[in-house]
Amino acid sequence: MPVRIYMDANATTPLLPEVVEAMYPYWVENFGNASSIHQDGQKARQAVDAARHTLASFFNCSEAEVVFNSGGTEGDNTALFGLLRPGDHLITTSIEHSAVLQAAQRLALRGIEVSYVDPEPSGIITPESIGKAIRPETRLISMMLANNETGVLQPVQAVGRLATDHGIFFHIDAVQGAGKVQIDVKQIGCHLLSISAHKMHGPKGVGALYVRRGTPIEPLLVGGSHERRRRAGTENVPGIVGLGKAAELAMKSLADGTMDQVAALRDRLEKGILALPDTGLNGQLPDGTPVLRAANTTNIWFDNLEGEALVIALDLKGLAVSGGSACHSGATEPSHVLMAMGINKTRARASIRFSLLKTVTLEEVDRVLQIIPEAVAKLRSISPAMAGTLG
Ligand SMILES: *Cc1c(COP(=O)(O)O)cnc(C)c1O
Repeated sequence: MPVRIYMDANATTPLLPEVVEAMYPYWVENFGNASSIHQDGQKARQAVDAARHTLASFFNCSEAEVVFNSGGTEGDNTALFGLLRPGDHLITTSIEHSAVLQAAQRLALRGIEVSYVDPEPSGIITPESIGKAIRPETRLISMMLANNETGVLQPVQAVGRLATDHGIFFHIDAVQGAGKVQIDVKQIGCHLLSISAHKMHGPKGVGALYVRRGTPIEPLLVGGSHERRRRAGTENVPGIVGLGKAAELAMKSLADGTMDQVAALRDRLEKGILALPDTGLNGQLPDGTPVLRAANTTNIWFDNLEGEALVIALDLKGLAVSGGSACHSGATEPSHVLMAMGINKTRARASIRFSLLKTVTLEEVDRVLQIIPEAVAKLRSISPAMAGTLG
């Protein structure tokens, strides 16, 4: 069996050893309930407090503005369901994660008007296009920081100014931006911002939502008075500790040049793949300049082959990547993100996302640059006309 190379970090990431080490005692020795007044409970409480302190510096907010939860889906749902009532208007975009899109669809059934703003062909949502969608009833703008499929970074700071000028609440799904770009909620001017530990080398099933002081958000879950009554349920102490450690290490990686190295390796990979004939980058300006993207992500189309077949061929050669399509109720649909960018169905289906872990090595990238040309050439020789007919 070949050594496995994992380039699907935007789906999930492994825990760094330091994260596992930090979490372990909170399952075993320090297993207390953070709400208990005895010493066992207090140890757990101190660990949650310490993680809250780290997250406050990660977001640049106060500790009271950090709400721990079960991850990105819950943060996104809390922002939308917690703030919107019948008669309100929501502005979001057509390239959001399904955690936002499905919540918006539900809200639309409950009398909330929803506008979906489309990106430019480059994958960027312009602040002007958001501005045009604003109405007197607009209560919330929800948009992502970095797109999970293309990595394209969105102009959230300009949208934050728009939201402030119009007195509109602003939520950011920062799940794919966290750990890849510096986050500063004050500078952005948002009210809500969601992150997830498992997309940044932390554990699955835990995340955090920044809630600006005074934001009138209704909790999704009620019960105990945990998280200042904003999210009921006994705290996932080991998970929260893991998120805290992952956030601490993410800040370090942004400061010490690790993420710049990841970007350089991503660029090397991208350049190597784009040297193949009949390939192109999803996420560039009309003149071919790549737009600003999360350091670890590139999304590339390969003409004259089926993306799904390439994902499987690469998997057999030891490389894990994702295709530009998703399986919804048994049918393979081309990516809604790539389609919204105006990319045709055939190319969207023939697109592959490479998303690097922050531990990626030069050897891995160079090995992948050996694997891909062989796999692509083989698929193209088997079925040269396939892609065209499957349109
Ligand atoms: C993964 C992801 C989510 C969902 O986060 P979970 O913690 O897996 O629920 C939301 N938004 C984006 C952009 C994501 O990539």
